[in-house]
Amino acid sequence: MVRFLSLSSGSNANCYYIGNRKSGLLIDLGVGVRTLKKRLAEHDISFDNIDMVLVTHDHIDHIRSLGSFTERHQKPVFATKTLHSALSTHFCTRGSLSGCVHILEEDVCYKSGRIGITAFAVPHDATQTLGYHIDFEGVRFTFLTDIGYPTEAAVKYASMANHLIVEANYDIDMLLRGPYPQSLKMRILEDTGHMSNDQTASLVRRAFHPELKSIHLAHLSRNNNTPKLAFQTVSDALLEIGVRVGEDVILNCLPRTDSSEIMDCS
Ligand SMILES: [Zn+2]
Ligand SMILES: [Zn+2]
Repeated sequence: MVRFLSLSSGSNANCYYIGNRKSGLLIDLGVGVRTLKKRLAEHDISFDNIDMVLVTHDHIDHIRSLGSFTERHQKPVFATKTLHSALSTHFCTRGSLSGCVHILEEDVCYKSGRIGITAFAVPHDATQTLGYHIDFEGVRFTFLTDIGYPTEAAVKYASMANHLIVEANYDIDMLLRGPYPQSLKMRILEDTGHMSNDQTASLVRRAFHPELKSIHLAHLSRNNNTPKLAFQTVSDALLEIGVRVGEDVILNCLPRTDSSEIMDCS
């Protein structure tokens, strides 16, 4: 049985788990190690199950605890050479990853037993940002967070997924009318910022295929979005192509600060 759990998804902390009874992996490590242990235990997942950590990019909400984790637990950390180079000087990870560095080539599938991992570049304002396509014992996941706009590569990898975890960061009206300073609004809106609900809806509509079983909306902004708006925008876009949420595909919003329900993805 392959299971998926979001341990936290938002601009404070990001961390996601995929695994079975024997092994598992994390995507990003933005929550504290104590919180990670507690939340895994709450979902009956052994901490010893974690065999590796994949890193999307060098923003603090994704790597806050990566250094302290590897110092204590010495698990391989997967990223491209460019991203590892940035991690080697970042204050969260500097001097902590030696012995744990594992380099991935972009768009090349790395195989570890029955797990296949493919990293691909996405536009975002970090040193480098990666999306991931993960084949975990035949169950295919695509991760797209953080990402400025839906690129062709993002649509391609999303259209290969059985389970899609994709950012829906902001509602455009809430962002424009909201309290953020103009410079921050521009940063979010840029092609190297985050995706709006409309952009996520467009990506999902282009990538949908009958083998896509679930869509999880990630990294929702506290100030510029609501789960209801994100859900409705994506749900409406799917309905336009005849896909009914709840019948043809599962759609949900991942909690910003808590863990999600654990999902059986087999
Ligand atoms: Zn982020
Ligand atoms: Zn980021």
